[in-house]
Amino acid sequence: MPYTPAPPPLELGGLAAVVTGGASGIGLATALLLARRGARVAVLDLDPDALPAADRDTLIALRCDVTDDASVRAAVAEAVNRLGALDILVNNAGIGAQGTVADNDDAEWQRVLDVNVLGMVRTARAALPHLRASRHAAVVNTCSVAATAGLPQRVLYSASKGAVLSLTLAMAADHIREGIRVNCVNPGTADTPWIDRLLSSADDPAAERTALHARQPTGRLVSAEEVAAAIVYLASPAAASVTGTALAVDGGMQGLRLRPEAG
Ligand code: NAD
Repeated sequence: MPYTPAPPPLELGGLAAVVTGGASGIGLATALLLARRGARVAVLDLDPDALPAADRDTLIALRCDVTDDASVRAAVAEAVNRLGALDILVNNAGIGAQGTVADNDDAEWQRVLDVNVLGMVRTARAALPHLRASRHAAVVNTCSVAATAGLPQRVLYSASKGAVLSLTLAMAADHIREGIRVNCVNPGTADTPWIDRLLSSADDPAAERTALHARQPTGRLVSAEEVAAAIVYLASPAAASVTGTALAVDGGMQGLRLRPEAG
């Protein structure tokens, strides 16, 4: 008789997850990986119709605007209703902004902070009662290398992600005794539709892409799947002792100081 061990139980079997901004890019890759590891998953997105048709059997897609508290509460309630519980919240919806401190008016500051910071506050607030009821509760926020490194022409975006980093640490402290872990991931430049939009608005998209690749010590952009793998690790029972951390998935952009290549 050949030796055929039983497959191990799925790591996230029995758990339910909500991913904001889950219809595209890093959020979509995360939602699909959570589902592949056994979780039941709902994506909450401003544009749920953007979810690829092939993934509609795997993921529940709900319309939600994270800048609207009523919309967030309704979507989280509907997700819990359909999933039966909520154990994992991935706060991932976010938007970009460019320019120096001189370039954006108050309305633009408020618009970006409203999505990137208050959006996470609203979903966390709506999710907390359900997370408290979970025996394995985890929140993972999508932060950025922009929170920890000074990048040119990104002051508003960086300030928003700096707030996400501090929010992550403070939430981790507040909720540890309720059994809720809170962590974030700090991606470098990741190859998602977001970057395609950024490049298409550049004067010389090919040169801009080359410059973005060169900024990563690995010489290439981070993939959405690589960020998703880090998020899923932080969300999983394997990370039961990990809380209040920021996991860089940035091709070495934050931590390394390389000498120029010879030649
Ligand atoms: P993306 O544009 O591909 O996906 C973002 C998703 O968020 C979209 O589906 C969009 O509809 C949704 N969204 C936007 N505003 C929303 C709102 N008000 N309510 C609900 N959903 C909303 O972008 P991405 O590159 O996958 O970015 C995801 C996250 O990763 C963001 O928080 C971003 O700041 C962060 N991040 C991205 C990069 C990168 O280089 N792509 C690097 C570091 C961090």
